[in-house]
Amino acid sequence: ATPMSIMTATGRGAQTGVLIKNAEALERFEKVDTLIVDKTGTLTVGKPRLVAVLPEDGHEETEVLRLAATLERGSEHPLAEAIVAGAEERGIKLAEATDFDAVTGKGVKGTVDGKAVALGNLKLVEDLGLQASALTDKANARRDEGETVMFVMLEGAVAGLVSVADPVKETTPEALKALHELGFRIIMATGDNERTAKAVAAKLGIDEIRADVLPEDKARIIKELQGEGRKVAMAGDGVNDAPALAQADVGIAMGTGADVAIESAGITLVKGNLDGIVRARRLAHATMRNIR
Ligand code: ADP
Ligand code: MG
Repeated sequence: ATPMSIMTATGRGAQTGVLIKNAEALERFEKVDTLIVDKTGTLTVGKPRLVAVLPEDGHEETEVLRLAATLERGSEHPLAEAIVAGAEERGIKLAEATDFDAVTGKGVKGTVDGKAVALGNLKLVEDLGLQASALTDKANARRDEGETVMFVMLEGAVAGLVSVADPVKETTPEALKALHELGFRIIMATGDNERTAKAVAAKLGIDEIRADVLPEDKARIIKELQGEGRKVAMAGDGVNDAPALAQADVGIAMGTGADVAIESAGITLVKGNLDGIVRARRLAHATMRNIR
C-alpha cells in the first residue's frame, strides 16, 4: 500500500468517526470474512434498565431488590448500575455490604445485615450448590423477550430474581443487514444466557451464537476460527473484550467503551455504532483496489 492512499483512507475514515490505527489494520480488514460481535454495549445500547423483580414464595419484592442493590453498589458492571438505579427510583433505602466479592462472568456475593447474599446467573447458583429457582419458567419467558435475568440468593436459597432490559441500538439492524450484504459471517459472543442471546439474535438475523461465554472464552473462540483459516474481526466495548480484540486479525472498539478496549483495537468507531464497520470495509476495499 502506498503511504498516500492509506493516508487518504484514514483521513476519510476519521471524518466519519472511523479511526483506523495504521495501514496494517486497513489491509487486514479487507481480508476479514468473519465478524464476532459482543452483545451488551455493542449490539445493544449498553444501558440496561431494571424491568422486573420477582420474589420466591415467602419473600418480599422490596426486600429482594434491597438485598440485590445493596450488594451491587460494590460493582461497576452495567447490570449492577441498573439494579442500583432501579432500587433508588423505587425509594428503597440501601444497606452496607461487607465481604464483597465479584465473580467474573457470573455475578457478585457478600454479606448484608449479617446474612450471606449473592446475585448472578445460573452458573453462580450452581457454583454455590443451590437448588434451581421455582421461578425458572418465568425467568425463561423473560429471556425469550431478550431480558437478562439474575437470581438473588439469600442464606443458601434463591429468594427471587431481578430482570433487566437493554434495547438494541437504533443503528444496529441496518448495519448488520449491510454487513451481511458485504459477505461477513456474523457471530454473537456474549456472557449472557443462551435464551436471551437467541432472542436478540433472532431479531437481527445473526448467523451464529456463542452464549454463556466467560471473558477468556472470547479470545479462544477467535483463535479456533483462525485455526480453521478464517480471518476474524471482533467488535466489542468492554474491559472483558480486550483480550479478544487483541487476538482478532482486526479488533474493532466502540469509542463509547472502555479505554483498554480502544487500546487493543485496530479500528475505533467513535460513536459506537456498527454502521462504522460498513464504512471501514468500503474504505479498505477502495484503498486496496487502487493499490493493486
Ligand atoms: P457480557 O458483558 O458479555 O454480557 P459478563 O461476563 O460481564 O458478560 O457477564 C456475564 C453474566 O454474568 C451476566 O449476564 C450476568 O448474568 C452475570 N453477571 C456478571 N456480573 C454481574 C453483576 N455485577 N451482577 C449480576 N450479574 C452479573
Ligand atoms: Mg459489552
